[in-house]
Amino acid sequence: MKIAVVGSGYVGLVTGACMADMGFEVFCIDIDETKIAKMKRGESPIFEHGLENIMKMNIEKGRLLFLTDLQSVLDEVEVVFSAVGTPPDEDGSADLQYVLEVARTIGKYMNNYKLIVTKSTVPVGTAKLVKETVQEELNKRNAEIPFDVASNPEFLKEGEAVNDFLRPDRIVVGVESERAKAIFEKLYQPFVLNGHPIIFTDIASAEMIKYAANAMLATRISFMNDIANLCERVGADISMVKKGIGSDTRIGRKFLNAGVGYGGSCFPKDVKALIKTAEKHNYSLDVLKAVEKVNNKQKSILFNKLNNYYAHQLTHKKIGLLGLSFKPNTDDLREAPSLTIIQHLLDAGCHVCAYDPVAMPEAKRRLGNSITLCNNIEETFTNADALLLVTEWHEFRTLSPDKLKALMRKPVLFDGRNIYDDIEMRKAGVEYFGIGR
Ligand code: NAD
Repeated sequence: MKIAVVGSGYVGLVTGACMADMGFEVFCIDIDETKIAKMKRGESPIFEHGLENIMKMNIEKGRLLFLTDLQSVLDEVEVVFSAVGTPPDEDGSADLQYVLEVARTIGKYMNNYKLIVTKSTVPVGTAKLVKETVQEELNKRNAEIPFDVASNPEFLKEGEAVNDFLRPDRIVVGVESERAKAIFEKLYQPFVLNGHPIIFTDIASAEMIKYAANAMLATRISFMNDIANLCERVGADISMVKKGIGSDTRIGRKFLNAGVGYGGSCFPKDVKALIKTAEKHNYSLDVLKAVEKVNNKQKSILFNKLNNYYAHQLTHKKIGLLGLSFKPNTDDLREAPSLTIIQHLLDAGCHVCAYDPVAMPEAKRRLGNSITLCNNIEETFTNADALLLVTEWHEFRTLSPDKLKALMRKPVLFDGRNIYDDIEMRKAGVEYFGIGR
């Protein structure tokens, strides 16, 4: 089966490469020519473990092709996955202009049956809009060509995208025809072989499942952050609380870490978009409004602790920052808490020295010369007045308290992810501040 994947970002490229790896012939399409040129050489524009290997192998086998125009391959493919961006527009709703542009192109140029699959995260009702848009274009040229629309939301996690795609917890597919369902069964058969279930639903439910999943995860994060902040005030330790409640099988252990708030390209925009969808249907999602409020506050919490420590006298202080990406194993800085923290530090007159194992080029692009981008961990805290741990990359875990003491102007550590042993740090003479401890 031949497949086109339109939009070759985190979701599209991973989908295309993994589908090619399962033996399908895949055309990855993107309007960004620089990206396409890079990918043709087997280079991934994003940092994801294992992705380049899969790309290179399947390019060599001739199963993975990159191009900028969908029209040229449209006759050849039966399935078109749409994985373009759905950024928030001014009021927080999902901006569907790219999704509908893809639908228009398909409607304009298709000459035979197509299964049009939306992989992007889109509000309930979008598949209907896609269908209408394609039909409008067909009507314009008096063409009667059968097609199906479907919703197949993506649940991959950045940093583990390839593994998640190849070994998904579940595959959710919203369809409205037997023909579409049969194609999906064939498409995902290689994945189901390993015991991963496909859940077929109606289209609206599939669209809602994606938002509900992200909203639930964001809720857990904000809930734990809220409880952590209370722990600090009442003398409890959030790591103990986490252990205690996580052992309850109804709650489970995952996604219970307190920290500096969620970021990334999905949770913030999806929570906003779901709130907006509810408003459009005259409903107020009060829980999610609180989730968002808590998260916005949490992104400033590390700065507030530092600011209080220095009694609001931060001018000319050198502050080290470990980790810039919104989470480990990705170079994605979209909505990263580090950006909020850096802005506060710069506004307060600090000199910021930061290091991230992979996000430095992206940080340079976004932040220019406003902060010092260091070559290694040590440079961030040499002569520093405080060190802030923002992203919990593996290589930050073994920070030596003796080194902090020897090299920092003042050995003060603000641990935004609770990865260090507070007792050990304090024993070694480092002033330690975590979240909710
Ligand atoms: P991205 O910004 O990394 O990639 C989108 C790509 O689409 C870009 O490369 C852009 O150039 C391209 N594009 C835009 N318009 C186009 C067009 N008309 N034709 C061809 N290409 C076009 O976005 P992403 O992070 O991959 O997210 C895509 C969608 O998937 C979003 O709706 C997102 O919410 C959802 N999603 C993302 C993740 C994630 O972890 N990043 C996970 C699950 C779902």
